[in-house]
Amino acid sequence: EHKQLNRLRREPTRTLDGADIKLWANAESRDDVAEAHALGAAGVGLYRTEFLFLGTHELPDEDTQFRAYRDLILGLTGRTATIRTLDLGADKADDTGLALRNEENPALGLRGIRLSMSRREIFRTQLRAILRASGYGPLRVLLPMISGREEIRAARALMDEVANELRAEGQAIASHIPLGAMIEVPSAAIALTTFIREIDFLSVGTNDLVQYVLAADRNNEYLGDLYSPLHPALLHLLHDVLRTGARHDKPVAICGEMAGDPSFTPLLLALGLEEFSLHPGTLLEVRRAIRAVNLGELRTQARSLLRAGDRSGIERWMRANAP
Ligand code: PEP
Ligand code: MG
Repeated sequence: EHKQLNRLRREPTRTLDGADIKLWANAESRDDVAEAHALGAAGVGLYRTEFLFLGTHELPDEDTQFRAYRDLILGLTGRTATIRTLDLGADKADDTGLALRNEENPALGLRGIRLSMSRREIFRTQLRAILRASGYGPLRVLLPMISGREEIRAARALMDEVANELRAEGQAIASHIPLGAMIEVPSAAIALTTFIREIDFLSVGTNDLVQYVLAADRNNEYLGDLYSPLHPALLHLLHDVLRTGARHDKPVAICGEMAGDPSFTPLLLALGLEEFSLHPGTLLEVRRAIRAVNLGELRTQARSLLRAGDRSGIERWMRANAP
């Protein structure tokens, strides 16, 4: 079993009917990045920069951040790194005093892009470090907790400002740095057409999207099955986001935990997903699941999936369409 899975390290991520699916890695540690590379990942689809701010009492300065981002890029030898800007908040509080600690509803509070925008000098430092690293290989910037167009515009303006500043200083930075938005706040998913032309790619954070769509805390152990992606509302929303992305020719990945669970692979392919971003630990299992299905047939089953009225209906569909 292990040996058979290992044989897939060198195989393409291709469905039975010849469709190529992209597998990105969610990775921060050197080991995970090396593993992702060895498994033939397309690159890093989610690099959570929070870890640089956690477990320390001092904010990481520009050079410290720059070295971390540059090392990530060098480790990928030409494959793309997707660096997510800081997603701290009272739910993921640091010891540097940056994130608030006393919010009544931390998941609904000052986190992600909101915190970055309220502490612009810290955000600017991070953007400078990321942009400086862009001179070392392909890099994309991903913004967390985007709720709508204004945040995209504000972040884009700051990024342009920082890029001009660095060029004026004579730093070699990439001429084009793709900017993407996490789709994890329902308003961004629902109003996607209002800003999709202004971004280069999307990454759906189902961990948060599920929690916000269902009003179910992702860390609350008392909610039982309530916190689950197997709700018709979530599937409809994912389907809409994927269709809108395709219509506007913008790549859409899913980087939440559900992308790394092979039991969800046929369902996500049926809904139109072509890019998965997942921890290297389950990459081969998801590749195996992709190689076992016929994409054309699955897509024709999307309608019956979207007709399922509840979790058990969705699970029935999953059993009927398991490879
Ligand atoms: C998500 O919300 O699905 C996600 C990938 O981001 P995080 O788990 O870091 O919130
Ligand atoms: Mg998230």
